[in-house]
Amino acid sequence: MATYYPPFRKQSPYLPFGEQRTGRFYGKDILSVKQFNRADLEYIFGVAHEMREMVERIGTFDLLKGKILANLFYEPSTRTSSSFTAAMERLGGSVIPINEVRYSSVAKGESLPDTVRTLECYADVIVLRHPEIGASALAAQYARKPIINAGDGVGEHPTQALLDLFTIVSELNQVDGLTVTMLGDLKYGRTVHSLARLLSLYDVKLNYVSPEILRMPAEIIQELNEKNIVQKEFTTLDEVLPQTDVLYVTRVQKERFENMDEYESVKDAYVITPEVMREAKDRMIVMHPLPRVGEISMEFDNDPRAAYFRQMEYGLYVRMALLAMVLGRA
Ligand code: ASP
Repeated sequence: MATYYPPFRKQSPYLPFGEQRTGRFYGKDILSVKQFNRADLEYIFGVAHEMREMVERIGTFDLLKGKILANLFYEPSTRTSSSFTAAMERLGGSVIPINEVRYSSVAKGESLPDTVRTLECYADVIVLRHPEIGASALAAQYARKPIINAGDGVGEHPTQALLDLFTIVSELNQVDGLTVTMLGDLKYGRTVHSLARLLSLYDVKLNYVSPEILRMPAEIIQELNEKNIVQKEFTTLDEVLPQTDVLYVTRVQKERFENMDEYESVKDAYVITPEVMREAKDRMIVMHPLPRVGEISMEFDNDPRAAYFRQMEYGLYVRMALLAMVLGRA
């Protein structure tokens, strides 16, 4: 008689002999910041802090030895893809990199569900960046293995928001009571969509500074209003800069514009220079998800308030924490 092998499930109970997995995020997808509460964030940041200490002490260790990550990127990426690779390798695991989908079967017309169902045969977790809103949620419906959203079009970028918040906590030692000013392309910038939502778990004041045509989407403002978050919109920075504790600068997202004249009209709307920053507090930070294309001048880079390069490093620890958590090792 043929042996019956039960179908795989999202959280497979059939673990290799002797393997133990634990934790509230084990087997979970990371699709949106909406899935987190404050206790989750404290937990994630606690693990990220431990990751930092381990990396500083020993560099690489074998927490995820034998585990494989598939890095599936349908849009360009430098930091997100390389930091997930570094995170996996620092934890002793390995990576299937698919950065150029045009060289994979996607170019032959393979659907996203089929591509993720393929990769999960070989990998334990899939990191996905895709140009369409909701792509990661769609992939997660088909995948048994955890899907981590690394940016879904103009939708969300939850792991970026987690590392952004970890940066704020690490640099300023608090979140409650802060005034956070988001500057630039708030319409198409997915990082600010996720970060605004995540900050709404705290007692913060939010300023949105953007050109008229790049305002924060109304549904996000509405969502945060329902949580009684104080939000104010501006078109110039000078009014709010002196009270700002975190200035979160974004790139105008050229690739999302249909009309290039429109892009040209707003691309240089704001430029942060040492002179502009004279009006800001001494104890505050300037963040940017990067890449920058001129919205922060290089002359500002050596200012201690320029936190954007440190922000990238915090990202490594947060992504190490997330991988360890979804694979049940934290
Ligand atoms: N790297 C960030 C993102 O993928 C920000 C940007 O591209 O401007 O959304």
